Amino acid sequence: MSDAVAPSARTTLRRGTNRAVYERDRVLEILDAGMIAHVGVQTPDGPLVLPMAYGRDDEKLYLHGAAANHLLGTGQGHEICATVTLIDGLVMARTPFHNSMNYRSVVVRGLATKIEDPDEKLRTLKLITDHVVANWDEGRDVSEIDNRKTLVLEIPLAEASAKVRDGDPIDEEEDMAGPWWSGIIPIETRFLEPYPAADFTGTNEMPAQYGALAGKTPDERVL
Ligand SMILES: Cc1cc2nc3c(=O)[nH]c(=O)nc-3n(C[C@H](O)[C@H](O)[C@H](O)COP(=O)(O)OP(=O)(O)OC[C@H]3O[C@@H](n4cnc5c(N)ncnc54)[C@H](O)[C@@H]3O)c2cc1C
Repeated sequence: MSDAVAPSARTTLRRGTNRAVYERDRVLEILDAGMIAHVGVQTPDGPLVLPMAYGRDDEKLYLHGAAANHLLGTGQGHEICATVTLIDGLVMARTPFHNSMNYRSVVVRGLATKIEDPDEKLRTLKLITDHVVANWDEGRDVSEIDNRKTLVLEIPLAEASAKVRDGDPIDEEEDMAGPWWSGIIPIETRFLEPYPAADFTGTNEMPAQYGALAGKTPDERVL
C-alpha cells in the first residue's frame, strides 16, 4: 500500500490547503480513532446526512443498518460521502471572527455498493462491530436471520482526504497587542468504568477488553 493517497480533483482541499493531509497512514489513523461517521446521500426529498458507526479494512469503509434503512437503501449504487470528525479543542481568538476549533477530520467520497455475499457480509459486520471495542466474539452468535435483516454497504477508501488543525488562534496583526484573552480550551473524550445492565442476570465475566478501555481516550484505545 502506498504512503500517500493521490487526491482526486474533488478530494483536493481548495481552502485551508496548509491543513490538508493526504498520507494514507494519517487518514487511516483518524478513521481508527473516530467512532462515528456522518454519512451524506442525495435522497429524492433532498440531501440527508446521518451519524453512523463504521468499520474499515485497508481498502474500504463499511456501513451497516437495518435492511429497511432509508439512507443506506437510497445510497446503495450511488455516490455517497462519509465524514469522520475528532474535536481536540476550541480555539479562542482575540476576535470571535477568528475563533476556530482544533480538529482532525476525514472525508471519504465514493460509490456505495451493497455487499451481497453472506460470508463477506459477516466479515465486514465483524469489522464494524469491533471498530470501537472487540465484541464480535463475545455475545450470542449472529444468526442467519440477523444477517438477512442487515444491510452493509462498502465504499472504496481510494478517494479520501484529511484536514487537521492544530495550534493557536490566528489573529490579525493589529489585534495582537490588544487586551483580549486568546488561547485553547482543550476537549477530551474518555471511556469510563463499564457497569452491567440493570437487568443483567448472566454468568459471564465482563470481557477484559471492555474494562481495559476505562480511562483511555478514543485515540489511546487504538495505540
Ligand atoms: C470541527 C470542524 C468545524 C469546522 N467549522 C467550520 C465552519 O464553521 N466554517 C467553515 O467554513 N469551515 C469549517 N470547518 C472546515 C470545513 O470542514 C471545510 O474544510 C471548509 O469550510 C472548506 O470548505 P470548502 O467547501 O471550501 O472545501 P474545499 O477545500 O473546497 O473542499 C474540497 C475537498 O477537500 C476535502 N475537505 C474539505 N474539508 C475537509 C475536512 N474538514 N476534512 C477532510 N477533508 C476535507 C474534501 O475531500 C472536499 O471534497 C470545520 C471543520 C471541522 C472539522
